[in-house]
Amino acid sequence: MPEGDTVWNTARVLDHALAGTAIIHSDFRVPSLATVDLSGWYVRACGSRGKHLLLRFTAAADDLAMTLRSHLRMDGAWRVYASGEPWRGRQEHNVRVVLRTLTAAAVGYHLHDLALVPTDHEETLVGHLGPDLLGTAGQSGGWDSAEAVRRLRAHPDETIAEALLDQRNLAGIGNLYKSEVLFLRGIHPTARVSEVDNLAGVVALAHKLLRSNCGRWTQATTGSLRRGEEVYVYGRGGAPCRRCGTPIQRETVGERVTFWCPSCQPGAADPLSSI
Ligand SMILES: [Zn+2]
Repeated sequence: MPEGDTVWNTARVLDHALAGTAIIHSDFRVPSLATVDLSGWYVRACGSRGKHLLLRFTAAADDLAMTLRSHLRMDGAWRVYASGEPWRGRQEHNVRVVLRTLTAAAVGYHLHDLALVPTDHEETLVGHLGPDLLGTAGQSGGWDSAEAVRRLRAHPDETIAEALLDQRNLAGIGNLYKSEVLFLRGIHPTARVSEVDNLAGVVALAHKLLRSNCGRWTQATTGSLRRGEEVYVYGRGGAPCRRCGTPIQRETVGERVTFWCPSCQPGAADPLSSI
């Protein structure tokens, strides 16, 4: 599931393959960018802000700098292939962007929200985001736990599940980390933000979990990287809770899916919730 850590990892792979190299051919297969040609431009750096991927380019001749923003949502991915290597894994008709250098081809599949803007204008794309759970503290948009808590508190009547997904509060959490963090803190997903005693603890745990999965593709919250043991509740609807054996509940609204244990995370109507 592409969440902040997956996007961070993807940016690192792209940065490793592309940073400092020149684009020799670009191919944008989306109508809004169909006429864009980045050949001759250099890749300065690839990074992420929340779940937004930012590829930054500079022109060789002058100080022009451009940023390509892409979003993976549920199904997007970037892959890097060595020059001449066949593109495996995904079907060609899903390709949205190709960036070729002398040694590599970076291929973006199912990318969303593609936009190319002057780097000076990056904030028009990501300025609305709350603190980035994986961003460097002190940098613009970087991690700031107190600010994340302040933004969450500004929505006391929202459910905590919705508030954690709202990237304007804090950036990087998707359905997996939302479900796992709430399980680990024993909070029912429909609890109101105002009912959550220790928002700072929720935020700190989210930060710790995302951080711990940077640098690997396995998203583990249990401490185990073994297949089938990585998470407590996400994707485990109907399976027994790892702590108490109660069947894990699942609810889907559009692209939003939530998993929780009704015993470990009692709801507001449950008298146990006040204990
Ligand atoms: Zn349980």
